[in-house]
Amino acid sequence: MEIVQGVLAMSEAPRAKRYIGIDLGTTFSAMAYVDPHGTPVTIPNAEGSLTTPSVVYFEQTGQVIVGADARAAAVEHPELVVECVKREMGERFYSRPIQGRKLPPPAISALILKKLKQDAEAKLGPIDGAVITVPAYFDEGRRQATQAAGEIAGLEVLDVLNEPTAASLGFAYRDIKRKSDGQDDVLRLADETSKAKVAVVYDLGGGTFDVTVLRIEGNNLTVLATDGDVQLGGKDWDMKLLNAAAVAFKAKHGADPRTDEHVFQQMLVAAEDCKRALSARDKARMGITFAGKPVNIDVTRQQFEDLTADLLYRTESRIVRVMEAAGMSWDQIDEVLTVGGSTRMPQVIKLLERVTGKKPNTSLSPDEVVAHGAAIHAAITQLKRYQEKAVEAKAAKPKPAVATQAEMRIAEEEGSALPMMQEPVDANAETVADGIAPHPSGASTTTTAAIAADGSTVAEAIIESNPSEQYDSNDATDVLRAIQTHNVNAHGLGVVMTNEDKTKVNSIIVPANTLLPTSVTRRYGTVVSNQTSVSVIIVEGEAQDPSQCIPIGKCTIEKLPWGLRKGSTIYVTFSYDNSGRLDVKAMEATSGATASTAIDRTNAMNQVEISEAKQVVEKMVVSGKRD
Ligand code: ADP
Ligand code: MG
Repeated sequence: MEIVQGVLAMSEAPRAKRYIGIDLGTTFSAMAYVDPHGTPVTIPNAEGSLTTPSVVYFEQTGQVIVGADARAAAVEHPELVVECVKREMGERFYSRPIQGRKLPPPAISALILKKLKQDAEAKLGPIDGAVITVPAYFDEGRRQATQAAGEIAGLEVLDVLNEPTAASLGFAYRDIKRKSDGQDDVLRLADETSKAKVAVVYDLGGGTFDVTVLRIEGNNLTVLATDGDVQLGGKDWDMKLLNAAAVAFKAKHGADPRTDEHVFQQMLVAAEDCKRALSARDKARMGITFAGKPVNIDVTRQQFEDLTADLLYRTESRIVRVMEAAGMSWDQIDEVLTVGGSTRMPQVIKLLERVTGKKPNTSLSPDEVVAHGAAIHAAITQLKRYQEKAVEAKAAKPKPAVATQAEMRIAEEEGSALPMMQEPVDANAETVADGIAPHPSGASTTTTAAIAADGSTVAEAIIESNPSEQYDSNDATDVLRAIQTHNVNAHGLGVVMTNEDKTKVNSIIVPANTLLPTSVTRRYGTVVSNQTSVSVIIVEGEAQDPSQCIPIGKCTIEKLPWGLRKGSTIYVTFSYDNSGRLDVKAMEATSGATASTAIDRTNAMNQVEISEAKQVVEKMVVSGKRD
């Protein structure tokens, strides 16, 4: 009895919350925390590896296996194994049912996160939450799905952070910390000249590609431009080898080994092994056995490079594009940072040397640096949040409302020919119609969103003890506190606009690569005389044609004053915060009638679905080993 009481008393004692950084990769995931000296450290999984394959095996027994064993199981039971679920984040359901059930991708990702959390807890004790990284090129739906995955896994998601920001934070922090520790021998991103550095982060992983230009100025990291391809990664290089091997086999034996699912899975493993071997050697061998016929296929590095030149070229064209978007030339770039396991391929380094004229900085482990950056960001966020809450708790009054109206920046007006808001609502609107609440005039949605995003109350903060106690020196805390990161949006955000000739166009309000936070107001007009309501359909994407963009929300002014002339002024304001939350406000100029909405993500799960999935995942037994 006494022991039980003791345990209870201990668990109630205030403790600083523990947050980790998680790189939830398409093919491999990694996690890290910031140790008491302020150094990011990778947390190995229960099997002792620094990375965990992002593969989930749903055993017939109901048990779930995540990691290397799940990957191995794909050869025997491909139908029970989920790989690359990250490529499907943002979709309603995973592309095929598992054991007859349709599963939302965030619920599958949550199982990977559950395994990571479990393994981290075995080493560090209770984990309260995490910063989870996503490709910079992820759109809102995919970010939201990632956040949902964290919540389903029982993690408080401190932030969803862009992978290139995390990676450059990993590189820059090492230098900033070295400088603070007085070790300034090898500083590259935080040297004495105090001149701003510009870095290009090239991240080629297993399933996604990202390229980002960042400015590092003292402790300030600012993303200047970002580009990428969510359907390009090491897996595609594997497939090229697999297909070439299958063609060679067919030429010899007349049968296509890809038709057998089990053989296909074996070939995938063989192709990846062969690819990795070719990073170290000039020649490698791939073995296939199909229909009782074993065949060995020899591949040279040159052949492999020829075979995959088009894939590499796809990354090159993005590099060129992102430099244009950032308005930079190569002589302005100080560092080229490589991230992602696929940057171990010599062809990547050769490409970067040729295009950039510089030797890439490969000094940090490409599979750990993103998790390290996420851990650093978690530590920074936690320290700052505590500080803010301590100040707030002292003041003992609620946050003042943000005066959005005053902050509005009126963008360049359209001249005489005002484009028209469409009315009536088009088909797109139906999918996003629910959840939109007309807002009383003058209320500030920005304030509401900021508080909701935080997720915890002042009362909670008082119970939580000071997180700086986790560090054994004030220096470590100071270095972390001093760092600031600034982001841009990866995709343009606009509204559907109806022109005089009734054609619909995407009128971009916040162009891609705008520094966040931002608030932009543009003026539009009503389409017809005596229009009674205005629907603002919000889209994400750069295309002129709205049907090529993703509708992400809608906001409607229900009651316009009677007798408005055609072309009467409607102001639309987009306020986009640092963490990618969009608030939209529409206002009719004469009456001041407004409508507003926080972004309504079409494919993300709602709160009810998230808590239901959380209950299911809580009960599931997840492990790294098959019994
Ligand atoms: P992600 O974050 O997208 O899951 P990672 O950054 O962990 O991916 O990179 C995984 C990819 O890196 C895989 O496609 C893997 O085959 C590839 N990879 C890892 N090591 C090597 C290597 N030595 N040579 C070539 N490719 C490699
Ligand atoms: Mg990655």
